Amino acid sequence: MRKTKETAYAKINLSLDVLGRLDNGYHIVKMIMQTIDLYDELVFETQDRECSSMEITLMSDSGEIPGGEDNLIVRAVRRMEAKYGIRRDLKITLKKNIPVAAGMAGGSTDAAAALRAVRDLFVPEVSDEELQKIGVSLGADIPYCVTGGTQLSEGIGEVLAVLPDAPQCGLVVCKPPVNVSTAEIYRKYDSLEAVTHPDIDAQIDAISRGDLAGMAGLCGNVLEEVTGTMYPEIGEIEEFFVSKGALESKMTGSGPTVFSIFASKEEAKRAADAFEAVNREKNCKVIACEFIYRI
Ligand code: ATP
Repeated sequence: MRKTKETAYAKINLSLDVLGRLDNGYHIVKMIMQTIDLYDELVFETQDRECSSMEITLMSDSGEIPGGEDNLIVRAVRRMEAKYGIRRDLKITLKKNIPVAAGMAGGSTDAAAALRAVRDLFVPEVSDEELQKIGVSLGADIPYCVTGGTQLSEGIGEVLAVLPDAPQCGLVVCKPPVNVSTAEIYRKYDSLEAVTHPDIDAQIDAISRGDLAGMAGLCGNVLEEVTGTMYPEIGEIEEFFVSKGALESKMTGSGPTVFSIFASKEEAKRAADAFEAVNREKNCKVIACEFIYRI
């Protein structure tokens, strides 16, 4: 029996812009992605016995995600099976810590972890770039999640450029108790008439200078115009954290999670505790965390 463990980290979008839409419905994006230290834990076990078709068993502690062949983890393994002719049974155990449908790429990062694990177990010669090519057909965030850190993601998520590490800071992520469908938010975005676009190139400059306040001030997300209108609590959460000293507070991905950037980890922790004290009955998930650069 052989076994490998994977840590599947969540991401936030320091900024997110939509530049256009292809005929097949995919959107052309420009986003700065950042890995954070909130993660799912996956264990992959194989008996190493050749079989005629790969049997995949997924055990998960989450009742919120699909099981079996619909799960992104299993779909990612199936892509590897088809591409590399893998004929070994696989048992996968998932401990889900990342909130589902939250804008933090929970499914994508699990899928990316599955690609890495299958590569490491069966086809170690396969490069990260190959995994990214396989992943993009399953989800726009998967190529980024294969390698993580601070990156610029463009095209439909497959054009990646590693950026200098974003300056370390205190971070709070806060997810109100609503689940958002990414597809629905993009559909509504397409019918918006006027949109204010973030200046992502200026944010890259701020990151390159290690200018935390500059980077924070340039956070922006065009999808917030849609999700923020549907769920006013997003704006209320942002106001709360700004009143507690956040340099910036913005929505990540298609939402509804809000991230708040603080000058220090201590300030972030104090603000997270203050939010919990005041909003306990609102059922928000509040997590003080930090950036991660190498996965
Ligand atoms: P993104 O930020 O990439 O848009 P998200 O964080 O908003 O993603 P996910 O948590 O990835 O959203 O969930 C999106 C959908 O994928 C949900 O409907 C969920 O049921 C489905 N899904 C399939 N497999 C998984 C998985 N392993 N973990 C989480 N969600 C999964």
